[in-house]
Amino acid sequence: MSKIGFIGLGNMGGPMVANLIETGHSVAAFDLVPDAVARAVASGATAADNAAAAAADAEVVVTMLPAGAHVRSVFIDDDKIIDTVGAGTLLIDSSTIDVTTAREVIAVAADKGLEMIDAPVSGGIGGAEAGTLTFMCGGTDAAFGRAEPILAAMGKNIFHAGGPGSGQAVKVCNNLMLAIQMIAVSEGFLLGEKLDLDAQKLWDIVSTATSQCWAMSSYCPVPGPVPTSPANRDYEAGFTVAMMLKDLKLSQEAAASADANTPLAAHATELFDAFASSGRNAELDFSAIIRQIRDS
Ligand code: NAD
Repeated sequence: MSKIGFIGLGNMGGPMVANLIETGHSVAAFDLVPDAVARAVASGATAADNAAAAAADAEVVVTMLPAGAHVRSVFIDDDKIIDTVGAGTLLIDSSTIDVTTAREVIAVAADKGLEMIDAPVSGGIGGAEAGTLTFMCGGTDAAFGRAEPILAAMGKNIFHAGGPGSGQAVKVCNNLMLAIQMIAVSEGFLLGEKLDLDAQKLWDIVSTATSQCWAMSSYCPVPGPVPTSPANRDYEAGFTVAMMLKDLKLSQEAAASADANTPLAAHATELFDAFASSGRNAELDFSAIIRQIRDS
């Protein structure tokens, strides 16, 4: 069992810490929000005074932060964890961030002789609580091999996607495809409505036909056909519009830096941006994008 420093104890980090402790690891925890630290302590962690203190004696440091700027701040610019951790400390960043920053931070760590992987997740808060997250990892074979047993305490499916930044690259490609699929399913069901089709009948047929996809079969954006989908509870999240917009913006940054053509993702970003900016939509489940399409 390992001594772990965990930084970022929000909706995801909090339950991830609980699962690390449940499986016998010891955790020194830090967040800028004192209540988040208190919750981690209630689940068995030790409170650290700051990020560097959480990392100081750790064999493994895990971060679960909002965005690339926070990850840079903790590892390089402000808390300077890369400069202060002991030799041999393994660094794992599970935040969803831009590929460029992920590669940059891992390169700075490598210059100091430290192994680091990017390991963003899918599975949401439910997956974090149940310990069933999917981890998509980027880094060397050696770093991934050391990280895998730690990640197994928090997740079910742990993939090594390739070199540094590859985990973030997979995550951004996945969510780009998901956003476009959700918009496509929304358009299909809204057209069906205008053509006097019954939504259940449409679903029964297309969910076994060539347009079948997860956004339709497991997460249908109209109420009825999939009783567990957020459409049946007024689009209570789930995975929020704000988070999908964040990931779509990351996809557009990645596309620009790699000179990739992503016309549908560019339009999806505009639709999610417009929807998030009006009313209180940002905290709805991302499948509520059907309302933007219906109303525009
Ligand atoms: P969150 O906002 O609930 O938690 C982030 C935490 O980081 C906050 O508690 C914040 O106080 C803390 N923080 C920010 N800067 C810090 C610093 N410098 N030092 C210490 N703590 C700091 O976010 P979340 O929902 O837990 O998501 C975390 C990451 O996981 C994000 O990158 C998100 O995109 C990704 N993610 C979230 C979900 C989800 O369903 N919530 C799903 C997949 C991936």
